[in-house]
This record gives sequence, structure tokens and C-alpha cells, in this order.
Amino acid sequence: MHIHEYQAKSLFRQFNIQTPEAILINSTKEASKACTELGGEIWVVKAQVHAGGRGKGGGVILCRGVEEVENACNKLLGSNLITPQTDAKGLPISQLLIEGGQNIERELYLGLLVDRQTQKITVLASTEGGMDIEKVAAETPDKIIKFGVDPLGNLTTEDCLSIAEKLNLEGDLAKQFSNALIGLYVIFTTKDVSLIEINPLITTAENKLLALDGKIDFDDNALYRHEDIIKLRDISQEDEKENEASEHQLNYISLDGTIGCMVNGAGLAMATMDLIEHHGGSPANFLDVGGGTTAERVAKAFELIQTEANVKGILVNIFGGIVRCDLIAKGILQAIEKVGLNLPIVVRLEGTNAPAGLKLLDEATFDIHTEADLTQAAIKIVELSKGVST
Ligand code: ADP
Ligand code: MG
Repeated sequence: MHIHEYQAKSLFRQFNIQTPEAILINSTKEASKACTELGGEIWVVKAQVHAGGRGKGGGVILCRGVEEVENACNKLLGSNLITPQTDAKGLPISQLLIEGGQNIERELYLGLLVDRQTQKITVLASTEGGMDIEKVAAETPDKIIKFGVDPLGNLTTEDCLSIAEKLNLEGDLAKQFSNALIGLYVIFTTKDVSLIEINPLITTAENKLLALDGKIDFDDNALYRHEDIIKLRDISQEDEKENEASEHQLNYISLDGTIGCMVNGAGLAMATMDLIEHHGGSPANFLDVGGGTTAERVAKAFELIQTEANVKGILVNIFGGIVRCDLIAKGILQAIEKVGLNLPIVVRLEGTNAPAGLKLLDEATFDIHTEADLTQAAIKIVELSKGVST
């Protein structure tokens, strides 16, 4: 689960990580009061969306004077923000953070994640923080400092001070850094976080170390034990289809291609997507209907795929292990009866009761192409979908 910058910063403050003064608003009429309360003459208006790269997408606007703040609010509120990290549609903006403009001296990067290779919680830090950290990581990886925390020990003040030294932070700034990093580590370990980032972590002309941005991703599997975190969820920032799918225990992820896939088992779904690509197509989604799926779930999955705008063909690939193929065939027919069929569909069934399932589909009045062989099924759907215009 993701949360907004303002929510991450509120957690930061509870764990001794300093942040600039800021006020959250959801209408332009609150802007002038917020500026007065914050004081100063320069403010930054920041769109609250679940994506990074907001600065590059025009979602972080530096304003001189209240009028500029109000113009920025009018421009952002109610619109969608497209950033290098969102899809082409972007994410809706309904909240803005008004923050005092800071006298930035340095922009650092600080984050924590679990490094799968070393199997340790790992601190990532860099002197080259800011909006191009991805470029730094790709082109000059030696500029990223990595420190793996001993799983049997803890992150110590000594460890933090040694990282501070590598970042050229001295005196009080090194101390502030150590406090901030310990705070991040405590949040990471006590809240079941999978990624926590401050980018940029700035030093100011006033010798302060402040988290100017905040990103926290929580492990969904552990959310049940964090009621306080669950409350922070904002479903307006999530994919509607993916949410609807998960309510029906379907594992669904929208993609950019044109061939809708319905498969049981994540591994088989991946293989099916690869095969579609191999034969010149591109998948419109990843969809795992689960091992012990039901006819109802298949019907729901079918509905979800059919309503995706870019889909030009559907490939169903089911291996009947626990589930019986004749039940799947019934589910498909039920779904077509309910939502109609306006796209080419190829169904490949294999395993328990596959012949009975294929027979049901062949005998139905709908135009369903059945295949027993997966390669043939992939070739067929790529060919059929090419004839469909949207
Ligand atoms: P994102 O990472 O989504 O682009 P950030 O919050 O990191 O958003 O803001 C982008 C950039 O805008 C920062 O790297 C910083 O240079 C600048 N910025 C953000 N907030 C402030 C602020 N309060 N004062 C001055 N500059 C800011
Ligand atoms: Mg940032």
C-alpha cells in the first residue's frame, strides 16, 4: 500500500525526522489563510498523488506571493497529474500541500529497503539526491552508498554517523542525520514497510536537515496488524479495476497491450504473456484467476477484461488441475450471456475434463475458437486481434 507525501511526513515527525512546516488544503479558498499561517513570502504547492516525479510533471510549483499560490491551486485541484511514474491518464489531485519555500543548500537521498541479494535491510544514501536519482543510480552507481544492517543486531548511532561522514555531513548536521536515519529504521521495522525514501533530504542555509519529500510503501500482507496505517489508504489513487478484481480474489494488473488474458496460476499467466509477445502480440493485462477458481470468478474476470478499452482479443488459458475444465467452460458461457461477446476469443483448456469443456464451448452458439495447444492458441489470438479496430 502507498500513502501520500503529507501522510509520510506526519509519520516522520512522530519518529524525530524533521520536515518543513506545511498545511494540507483541498480547496483554493483555504490557500491564503495557509500562507499567512506558514508565514514567509515563498511557498511551494505540492500535488498529493501516489506517484513520484511530481516535480517533472508540473505537480510541484514554487510560488512568490499568495496570488501565485492561488493560481497554482486552481490549476492543480481537480485535474489529473501525469508524471514519468504514472500511466498516460495520470492520477487525480484532490489535495495539495502548501509548504514554506526552503533555502536549500544540498539535496541528498536517503532510503531503506530489503536487499534481496544480501537478505538485509539496507540503507541507501547519496549526495546526489533530488529529481534525477534514478539517473544517478543507472549511470553512476558508485555514487550510491549502501549499508546492510546486521539482521541479528540493530542499526547503531555509530553506523549512522559513519554514513553521515560519507555524505560529508559534519557536526550538528551529522547528529540530525543520525536521528533521522534511526527514525526511518524504526518506522521501517515496526510498521512492516517494504520501501521508505526521503528524496530529497535537504540541508538548509539555517543548518537544518529536513525531509522535503516522503515515500513509504507498506507490505500489504502485514497490513492486518496496522490499523493506523490502513486508515491512511486513499482508493482514489488506486486502479479501480485492480481493486474490483481483488474483491473477487482475482489477481489483476492492467497493462498497455491489446490481448486480454485469463489464466489460472501466476506462472502460467507469465508464460502465456511471454508466448503472446513471442508471436507478435502484447498482453493487455496479467490475470490470475487462482488455482481453485469457480465459474462465478471466471465470469467476473471475463467482465473485467471485456470492459478494458484497449482490448482487441481475449485468450483464455486454463489448466484444469484442481478446477474442472467443464466448469470453466460454463463460467465463460455464463459470462458471455451476461456481458455479450464483441471481441474474438480463443480458449485453450487442458487437464481435468478438458474434452468436455472444449465440447461445451464448441457447441455453444457464440463464436468461440477452441484450441488444445497453447502455441496454436497464442498464434490464433494474435492473428484474430489484428483484424479488430478500436
Ligand atoms: P517529486 O519527487 O515527486 O518530484 P519533491 O517533493 O521531491 O517531489 O519535489 C521536487 C523538487 O522540488 C525537490 O527536489 C526540490 O528541489 C523542490 N522542492 C520541493 N519542496 C520544496 C520546498 N518546500 N521548498 C523548496 N523547494 C522544494
Ligand atoms: Mg522527491
